[in-house]
Amino acid sequence: MKELEGKLIVSCQADASDAFYGFMDRFAKAALAGGAGGIRANGVRDVRAIRSAVNLPMIGIEKVLHSDGAILITPNFESAQALVEAGADMIALDCTKRGQQYGALERLARIKAELQVPVLADIATIEEAQAAAQAGADAVLSTMRGYTAGTAHALRFDPTFIEDLVRAVSIPVIAEGRVDRPELARQAIEAGAFAVVVGSAITRPHLITRLFADAVEAAFASRKTWILGIDLGGTNTKSGLVSNRGELLWDETVPTPARAGRAGLLKHLEDVALRGLARGHEAQAIGIATAGWVDPRNGHVVYATENLPGWTGTRIAETIEKATGKPVFVENDANALAVGEKLFGAARDFDDFVCITLGTGVGGGCFVGGRLNHGAHFFANAFGHMCIEPGGRACSCGQNGCLEAYTNVAAMLDYAANRYANAVDLIAAANAGEPTAIAAIHKFAARLAAGCTLMIQLLDPEALILAGGLAQNNPLLISSLNRELSLRVPVWAQRNLKILTSSTGYHAGVLGAAAIVL
Ligand SMILES: [Zn+2]
Repeated sequence: MKELEGKLIVSCQADASDAFYGFMDRFAKAALAGGAGGIRANGVRDVRAIRSAVNLPMIGIEKVLHSDGAILITPNFESAQALVEAGADMIALDCTKRGQQYGALERLARIKAELQVPVLADIATIEEAQAAAQAGADAVLSTMRGYTAGTAHALRFDPTFIEDLVRAVSIPVIAEGRVDRPELARQAIEAGAFAVVVGSAITRPHLITRLFADAVEAAFASRKTWILGIDLGGTNTKSGLVSNRGELLWDETVPTPARAGRAGLLKHLEDVALRGLARGHEAQAIGIATAGWVDPRNGHVVYATENLPGWTGTRIAETIEKATGKPVFVENDANALAVGEKLFGAARDFDDFVCITLGTGVGGGCFVGGRLNHGAHFFANAFGHMCIEPGGRACSCGQNGCLEAYTNVAAMLDYAANRYANAVDLIAAANAGEPTAIAAIHKFAARLAAGCTLMIQLLDPEALILAGGLAQNNPLLISSLNRELSLRVPVWAQRNLKILTSSTGYHAGVLGAAAIVL
């Protein structure tokens, strides 16, 4: 016991699943070479092998699966006897409450008396330590702290527990359990420990490897990378350089040559991409969000309306990859916007949400169970074309009464009898208290609520996120929509549905385009 004072004890243990099983004598030699003052070893075989390899004081234990289904340390006198015969200088045994139920304190006294070796008590609490000291233990070890039902909360080595033990018992206190850094070993000694036992952090190479591998992988995953995001709209094409953390380094907006046909549009995209790449800060990939439905697996346009004539069937990804030499990912613009909100914006904390874009058209993207919903043929989320008024206003899709016909820019201006030149003016007027503008937004909100009620009934989302020009700087729309939905949606109070404005704002399209790459 005296030889252990102020020393490091290395616990050399490995079970049959460990690559070093059967090589504990080698670890003991290495421990000796490194300055260890003692060894803790499990089982007669390892104790015998270590004894023939090194001449250090050795604590022997025998881990046995007990009939209650859990491991018990040195559960009977015979195992202690065999360990001493194999070369153990002292014996440790489980003296927790559970161990005591199986006779640990009586066994402790018997081992001491009959085998004439020091006996050490593995404990988890002060009370257990005191009981063991009372029964004649030569030292207590904090080994079981964190591993018993009553101490499962103790997930880290805590030097204050060692201090408390030192105050509570007059026998030596040896710190053991989750001492996985030299700093913690030092703290244990400063707290009054007689010696410190370190195991896994020295003798389990796979656990040591895991620490380093996790650190390397986490640092690599969070290293800053850049993506060129391009949002091809019917009117404008926005692009920008976005980091994997959602920072926008620069952005530009140029008109889209919407009537140029497939070849003209692809040339336009190529120009935007090459110009963006030429601005430096090496982008690793390009994300393109485009109007129309897209198969994101191959970056082809499945279908586009006459807003972009000739765009249906275009193989965007291959063409831009060939022109730029960068990996290219393509997605529908409303879907991309939803991904942008999920990664960088208002939807970060949601797994089930609907993102609705309100502009010249009405579109959307939705996440169901943490995944972007595409539908079977990539036509999902056409919220703008849900019918809210059978036989109502004619829609761009050829049907009547679609949500889009009642909740796009033209509809909002119409609700104010076209007294405002554009939506920005109308929203500013409403914010300034002009009754006509306010009434128009209320009417708009009531129409939007009719469509949102259908989505909520179908999807039961955590949040609705309003994006696009009509949602910007428009708090009245949010409050009015909230009120309208509370009147229409069944069990509204229990849903705790949040109605939010897109937080990626004007750059939502570019951020979304970059987000699809991530
Ligand atoms: Zn329609």
